[in-house]
Amino acid sequence: MFVLLSVTLCFLGYIICIKLIYNRFKRLWPSSRSNILRSSSPAKDVNFLPSRDPSDSPCRTCGNAARPFDEVRVLLVTAHPDDECMFFAPALLKLTESNAAVHLLCLSSGNYYNQGAQRKEELLGSCAVLGIPAHRVTVIDNKELQDDPKTEWSIALTASLILKHITAYSINLVLTFDKGGVSGHANHISIYKAFSHLAFVGRIPEDCQVLSLQTISILRKYLSIFELPISWLLPSAFCCIIGPNEYKKAKEAMFHHSSQLLWFRHLYILFSRYMFVNTFRVVPVEKNDVKFY
Ligand SMILES: [Zn+2]
Repeated sequence: MFVLLSVTLCFLGYIICIKLIYNRFKRLWPSSRSNILRSSSPAKDVNFLPSRDPSDSPCRTCGNAARPFDEVRVLLVTAHPDDECMFFAPALLKLTESNAAVHLLCLSSGNYYNQGAQRKEELLGSCAVLGIPAHRVTVIDNKELQDDPKTEWSIALTASLILKHITAYSINLVLTFDKGGVSGHANHISIYKAFSHLAFVGRIPEDCQVLSLQTISILRKYLSIFELPISWLLPSAFCCIIGPNEYKKAKEAMFHHSSQLLWFRHLYILFSRYMFVNTFRVVPVEKNDVKFY
């Protein structure tokens, strides 16, 4: 009896803790989002400054000289239709609600089971729910960039397509996968490698910040909203948490991908922490003043 009471009290305490963190995040979000958007000099358009001090808790604020958020031009780079809502829905919903112009570059049509054409259509429906209009969605259909969990894509080709997009739309914030690719899919990891290459050779424009979505352990991944206190405590450059109304939208976006809605996807919608929380790291950009003699 005593054990049962203790477990119940601990559980209730944990729920209250989640609620408090969520409320605090809601209060901090307007300035928290400015944390990645700060003017450095009149000559420069927009400069992002995520917190780099490890002692800073995630989602904390510091941007005093913040520019309006509607000056942010975001590019999400994904590998397959459905990556945008399976993994990035919290960040996309928060950014589009804040009037940022969000573009999506999806590097394949997800044709592994010959459903590419259908999946492209589904992607447009999902993006509409997430606040990305069709004219800002680009799906690449290149025979060298095919959906295959065992194939790593060409870094040179992937990097050149990404760079072309960043330049064409004057992108100043990029969101993409990290080196773990969230699900470990080889195509996701190829995108991170392409960004690492661009960063290493100094090809990413100076005013463009690249953030990679943190891959977390499988245990944390399927804790649903109960993972929130861990994400809150661990340092990250940019953190997005959504509430019940936004979660409904994320779910609606997922339902647009009807060709992918197998039974385990329903479990994913219920239990994946990525449906509620996104945390990002900065992809460091090297300043390579390489000289050739
Ligand atoms: Zn994918």
